[in-house]
Amino acid sequence: MATKGRLLTGDRPTGPLHLGHFVGTLENRVRLQDEYECYFIIADLHVLTTAYEDPAAVEGNIRELVLDYLSVGIDPDKSTVYVQSLVPQVAEIALLFGMLVSVPRLQRIPTLKDVMRDLKLETASLGLLSYPVLQSADILMVRGEVVPVGKDQVSHVELTREIARRFNGLYGEVFPEAQALVGRVPTLPGTDGKRKMSKSLGNAIFLSDDEKTVERRVMSMFTDPTRLRATDPGHVRGNPVFAYHDAFNPDQTEVTSLKRRYRAGKVGDVEVKRKLAQALNTFLTPIREHRAEFAAQPDLVESIIRDGSSRARAEAEETLRSMKHAMKLDYFREGTASKAKPDSLPTFEELDGNRPTRKFRIRE
Ligand code: ATP
Ligand code: MG
Repeated sequence: MATKGRLLTGDRPTGPLHLGHFVGTLENRVRLQDEYECYFIIADLHVLTTAYEDPAAVEGNIRELVLDYLSVGIDPDKSTVYVQSLVPQVAEIALLFGMLVSVPRLQRIPTLKDVMRDLKLETASLGLLSYPVLQSADILMVRGEVVPVGKDQVSHVELTREIARRFNGLYGEVFPEAQALVGRVPTLPGTDGKRKMSKSLGNAIFLSDDEKTVERRVMSMFTDPTRLRATDPGHVRGNPVFAYHDAFNPDQTEVTSLKRRYRAGKVGDVEVKRKLAQALNTFLTPIREHRAEFAAQPDLVESIIRDGSSRARAEAEETLRSMKHAMKLDYFREGTASKAKPDSLPTFEELDGNRPTRKFRIRE
């Protein structure tokens, strides 16, 4: 049987997963679980690139994230779900990769500017600047070939390819060149209509939101700012309410008719939003039900993380070994020395019991 290709992607545990994740990457993950050997990383170290001051929420977020995964159909019997910081080898791999990337190359990555603008940062920390290098290590650590991500992450996968090429060219073929696989909606806008929907920007509808919350968030959504009355002709393009209708309302005849009436000034925002809230709640109902089933099983999340992280560690260890071998850095490895040294010095009793080596004995 041919071995399956590898797939890696993941999320920062900064909050629950939202509709943007679903259409940007989750759908592809679930669909490709049988075709690929899948690794889903919960990137807790990446959280620190922007939220290093108070990491107290990370643990709870990790647990919620695993429940989100399960609720949409990620199956831990097929796929490996792991926590980044439980695989410390990734830091060493990233350190080695850091030598292959220039500072201006990292400064040109568009997400850096976006994050700095969104979080109103005046300057980037070394950790934030080199975050795409750590992400390259995440992907290449498992020798990932396919990376299902939203559009915002494509530039990071491009860097990963460059690093793999550079490494292979210098030291020998170790890594595949990863391909980004962008979802059916490359970037879902947030409810503010301005920025991409993000966990940490307060503009998301979460997969775990209850019906009332979804209704509330939809009813207070940004629509067309140029439209003052329901009788004014409205804009459909760039209007997040219609972006969500397109992505989540299975009744596309209804959507086409709503768009036509909206453009003609024949339907109010309230009706368009009510229909959207209904469609979203229908879409989210089975996800919420699955989530509740998994949440009721104590220890489930913990055992998924422990098993997955131990599998990922074994992979990372092997990758690191191949890298060091290729780089001719595999000297003084444990178990490889011809004259292996004992772990500790012998005790006096052991020396005593070892009469033939008498000439080295400590004088009594
Ligand atoms: P944060 O605000 O912490 O950065 P986030 O909402 O941007 O959170 P990430 O964990 O950074 O989520 O991203 C996880 C994955 O989901 C990435 O592949 C990313 O491209 C994708 N993704 C995130 N938001 C969207 C979106 N609005 N539309 C499409 N894909 C998205
Ligand atoms: Mg993000």
